[in-house]
Amino acid sequence: MTLDELREQALVCTACGLSERRTNVVFGEGNPRSPLVLVGEGPGDNEDKTGRPFVGKAGQLLDKALVDAGLSRETVYICNTVKCRAADWSSGKPQNRPPTEEETLACRRWLLPQLTLLAPKVILCVGAPSAKNLIKKNFVITKERGLYFPCEFSRTAIATLHPSYILRNQYGGSDGGYSLLVSDIQKAWAAAERLAAKDVPGAPAVDLNPPAGDGEDQASLF
Ligand code: SF4
Repeated sequence: MTLDELREQALVCTACGLSERRTNVVFGEGNPRSPLVLVGEGPGDNEDKTGRPFVGKAGQLLDKALVDAGLSRETVYICNTVKCRAADWSSGKPQNRPPTEEETLACRRWLLPQLTLLAPKVILCVGAPSAKNLIKKNFVITKERGLYFPCEFSRTAIATLHPSYILRNQYGGSDGGYSLLVSDIQKAWAAAERLAAKDVPGAPAVDLNPPAGDGEDQASLF
């Protein structure tokens, strides 16, 4: 199966209740050959309307962070853990809510083959829910972001702060963690490039050990 064939199937999925109110399935976009894949939690209002991941205010901040990290949306592939918008409609006006465990589990039928087909060197989990889904259930974003972890779908996975969280925390002169987002993207990309270079047949060995003293003694995870 190709990524396009998987996408075609996902676009008509009705495997969970989120299909009832969605406008679009937000499958993912970007460079499918990129060594780096970003995985967020799920689409919101703007994403539901456009069918594209990370296009609201949080998405604009992510775009800025990618540029500040020397990249762009076209350099990487971006998708979400859950492909349809989760919202509470009880007040008549939809309010975004986190996907339930059941919805997250249901949507693994698309995420897991998607990641297998993309076969990135590094997955950057954007926000705690993505890290809990792809790295470990008890992931603590405030303590464990920016560290390398083993991952079933890539050579390593790193988690970073979600742009929505950063936007909520940008007050009183604080950047809300924006500089951490940029540095985590840079770190993920650097690892992805090193791993991609290392995997080219005939390429010279790459020294993955960081310079002594920079605290990144995690090379064994590669
Ligand atoms: S959220 Fe995922 S499993 Fe649920 S309907 Fe949408 S694509 Fe299907």
